[in-house]
Amino acid sequence: MPDFNSIISTIHSQLDASADRGSVATYIPELAGVDEKNFGIYLNCISGESHKIGAWNKPFSIQSISKVLSLAQAFSLVGDSIWKRVDVEPSGNPFNHLSLLELENGIPRNPLINAGALVIADILVSQLDNPKEDFLDYVRNLTNDFSIQFNTKVALSEKSTGFRNYAAANLLKSFGNLNNDVETVLDFYFHQCSLEMNCEQLSNAFYFLANRGKCMRDHAFLNESQVKRINALMLTCGFYDEAGEFAFEVGLPGKSGVGGGIIALLPNQFTIATWSPGLNEKGNSHLGMQALEKFTTATQLSIF
Ligand code: GLU
Repeated sequence: MPDFNSIISTIHSQLDASADRGSVATYIPELAGVDEKNFGIYLNCISGESHKIGAWNKPFSIQSISKVLSLAQAFSLVGDSIWKRVDVEPSGNPFNHLSLLELENGIPRNPLINAGALVIADILVSQLDNPKEDFLDYVRNLTNDFSIQFNTKVALSEKSTGFRNYAAANLLKSFGNLNNDVETVLDFYFHQCSLEMNCEQLSNAFYFLANRGKCMRDHAFLNESQVKRINALMLTCGFYDEAGEFAFEVGLPGKSGVGGGIIALLPNQFTIATWSPGLNEKGNSHLGMQALEKFTTATQLSIF
């Protein structure tokens, strides 16, 4: 086994010294004030050991990373019927791009771009009695942590500037691919994106995708075939138009968010969460991307 502790501390201290940490997302006003000096890593091994360094226990806005959790819940509720409404192809476009949606008749390219996540949000709004509460409950159960919360300030802040998401939802509605009204779906979506977690909680939440569908308490949330599909989507679509680069450099399924978090995993081995709020020009955490590249290179642990 590699010496995980010394590997992650070396990576952390090397990168923490970098002058270029990227820039914090400002299009959601509430996120603009996050201190870009934060940098944490948490490695959660299926064998039971864990290793952590830096700001691993500070909560941050998980944003797009939540799309994987909403997808998992929708998948467990409605199964393969999801794929009639959302495709499974990488988009090669930024997360909020709209042109393909128009071209492809309101069927989003995949569930991890905004338009696709809005269709998933619509499915959950239809399926759940109290959508926001029930989704939060799902995430808390998955993580076995009942302290996890939405950050309502962040949700409302995004709502006040979420013009592109309004545009995407209206476009979906015009194509008949939203069953609920635009406001309700967006309210759910902005709340799911506002979920706050620290690196440990994030690595615990995603444990089931590295452990054949079973969470840390050994409860099954998805079957193995569903886990395979979600991990494949993370590998091909989890990093906006940098998914190819992430597969090339890191070689793990993963998902990033504009809050600067990244979760990545190696099936049957580990989940690893990083957080550094400065983003590169593609919207992925600048230090997080580099940390994970160094991690899989040093440990020689990747799906390839
Ligand atoms: N709530 C953000 C949005 O819809 C999520 C984007 C992200 O993290 O990539 O713009």
